[in-house]
Amino acid sequence: MVRNQLVSQIDQAVESLTDELTEFACTIFGIPTQNPPGNNYRQCAEAIGAMMQKIGMDVEYVEVPQERLSELAPRGEGLPRISVVGYLGDKAQRPNIHFTGHYDVVPEGTGWTTDPYGCEIRDGNIYARGSADQKSGIVSEVIAAYALQKAGLKLKGTLIASATPDEETGGQAGVGYMVEQGYFTRESTDYCVITECLDVDKVCIGHRGTLWFEIDITGRQSHGSMPSEGVNALEFAQRLMQAIDEDIRPLIAEPTPLPVQPPACRQTTLTPTILQAGEKINTVPGSCRIGYDWRLIPELSVEWAKEQITAVCEKVKASMPGSDYTIHYLGEDNPTLVPKDTDLVNTFLANGKTYLGREMEFSVSPGMDDQKYVVQKGKLDHCIVYGPGRLTLAHKSDEYASIEEMKMAAKIMALSAVDLLGLAE
Ligand SMILES: [Zn+2]
Repeated sequence: MVRNQLVSQIDQAVESLTDELTEFACTIFGIPTQNPPGNNYRQCAEAIGAMMQKIGMDVEYVEVPQERLSELAPRGEGLPRISVVGYLGDKAQRPNIHFTGHYDVVPEGTGWTTDPYGCEIRDGNIYARGSADQKSGIVSEVIAAYALQKAGLKLKGTLIASATPDEETGGQAGVGYMVEQGYFTRESTDYCVITECLDVDKVCIGHRGTLWFEIDITGRQSHGSMPSEGVNALEFAQRLMQAIDEDIRPLIAEPTPLPVQPPACRQTTLTPTILQAGEKINTVPGSCRIGYDWRLIPELSVEWAKEQITAVCEKVKASMPGSDYTIHYLGEDNPTLVPKDTDLVNTFLANGKTYLGREMEFSVSPGMDDQKYVVQKGKLDHCIVYGPGRLTLAHKSDEYASIEEMKMAAKIMALSAVDLLGLAE
């Protein structure tokens, strides 16, 4: 088939599905899937599954067994954790490309000028919590499959589209569980695209890492008039903050040359977020808690960061006889970075340019997403993040998704599936 013909066939197929895209988007945007705790998951997964079935995909549901809910979704109040997977083509056929997005959303918060689940459409944008982050990506992946069907383009391999829960609370019961069950692994999957909100014109190749830690400091309580009788835990915290500034900050001052978005996030950030100590003005506190949110550029590792923090704690402890500390790591995820020059990346760059009429850019996510499970646990390097939602709208009030951008992403996804899998004769 002539290239131009293929490009315009997909373009027209997606355009002809505009009404159905909008209706499907409003259906799933309108289901309040706030996480925590994980509301209406079954309803949302089934609405997505029903659309997949309508297109002619084989649908399966993957549910976390009851007895593992407290382990994988500790804040989930025992509510079900359910993923939906649709296959366009035979399940076992290779090669395959698996598009996946999370359907859970963060609570709506305050400051909305519209109903957060009302799906009001203004200037071609649909307003809803979770529209950008990232139900829009689910819409695009499903419409991409629909457009291929509609255009009569039969793939040589299989297009898989899925929607998972719990990304907003770490993804253990969503993509994490799926990887454990053999989905998204190097053995089962050839190409994976996480349809997170990293912008319609960017191919995202990784994300920063995270280390959340609290340090419980113990000293010895004493009368405020006789501080020499005590060991001031608050003073330990003060010395620790100073040691972090003097010993660690110079090591993390260099920004990454990688295209982390927004550009202000190209730096490693090490932010004090918790400080608790003291009960009475004339008592030297015998205990103190201090916490930091550390975001690591892809050049750094969690292991390295832990060594640094232990070293400064030891240094301060040595300077204050009678003091002690315990570090609690509340969250730790290494950064993820996949190679830039692969057929998956290059196909999306080329097809983005085809439909957008301009060069695509690379990006690296400032936060974390489910790519970490696929790359780090599933050992699949052929995994990018690409979806239509706008990164800067994530978690804000008056969040929206553009209908045009959802269509654009669907076209780029559909053409890329054809290029990567080939067309059946
Ligand atoms: Zn997201």
